[in-house]
Amino acid sequence: MIETINGKTRTCGLIGNPVEHTLSPVIHNYLASACGHNLVYVPFHVEQDVFGAVRGGFALNILGMNVTVPYKKEVMQYLVQVDENAERIGAVNTLVRIEDGYKGYNTDYLGLKRTLEMENIRLGHETVVLLGAGGAANAAAYLCAQCGAKELYILNRTAKRAQQLADHVQSYFPDTAVQALKMEEYNELPDRQLVVLQATSVGLHPHIDEAVIEDAAFYKKVKQGVDIIYNPEETKFMKLVRAQGGRAVNGLQMLLYQAVTAYELWNGVTIDEEICQRVLKLLQKEFSHE
Ligand code: NAP
Repeated sequence: MIETINGKTRTCGLIGNPVEHTLSPVIHNYLASACGHNLVYVPFHVEQDVFGAVRGGFALNILGMNVTVPYKKEVMQYLVQVDENAERIGAVNTLVRIEDGYKGYNTDYLGLKRTLEMENIRLGHETVVLLGAGGAANAAAYLCAQCGAKELYILNRTAKRAQQLADHVQSYFPDTAVQALKMEEYNELPDRQLVVLQATSVGLHPHIDEAVIEDAAFYKKVKQGVDIIYNPEETKFMKLVRAQGGRAVNGLQMLLYQAVTAYELWNGVTIDEEICQRVLKLLQKEFSHE
């Protein structure tokens, strides 16, 4: 957190409902201090009026905003521009101030991309399995197809949502083989070394003993598993992947890099990896207190 707030301090913030448990202020205020920027980041609980929040934010000269649940789709209609990737994903979580309003980006997608790069997990030419078809899964599915996954299987409890997401991704990437399955149809997956992205909310604290698939036979096929959940640090899904010899990663870096990317867009800077690692340690410490 910067030490002095003065007449030149810029403001960024988060709009959503609820916002009380967010870690974004911890990340962004640390980044501002580490980069020597005169900037503060605050949560804005927005009960309903998203249009008012966006217009008011612009009127108040707010430099940038993050957008969280439940407004990531709704906010798009109030923006003067939307980045092409965010438009295709159908969700915006970062607003960047431009001349006559805000431009929307999806840094969840960029955060996941950067996490996979950092962890040396490749999607190109791989058989990728996506568990879930909600908001985060939309961004993940788009990333898989964009990175040139050989085949993409989307599994979801509600089959219709999986099919809708598969059709949506296929419309942008007609050359990617995309198939929708019901979650319980996981035994139809090929016996290949799978890269699995876990994007359901199953296993999230406090339900730490749950995984959306429990069968060891499934995990025998998994070579790399990424759970986008970051609380707990090791989810049941990750435990099951590791128990069968696969490599597992949690979603904390995705959280970090979606924030870092947003900060970079707002300030026109590139954050050193060394600073990112310091923020990661800070986040890990936040969870160790729970
Ligand atoms: P969402 O839009 O509500 O989607 C939830 C997904 O979980 C859906 O696919 C839903 O299936 C599935 N699901 C929920 N309960 C289930 C159950 N009991 N059994 C089987 N499937 C179930 O949520 P979201 O925004 O995509 O978020 C999903 C998770 O990602 C959350 O835990 C969130 O914290 C995490 N996340 C992490 C980051 C990060 O930076 N690391 C960023 C965004 C989100 P149905 O379609 O059948 O309901």
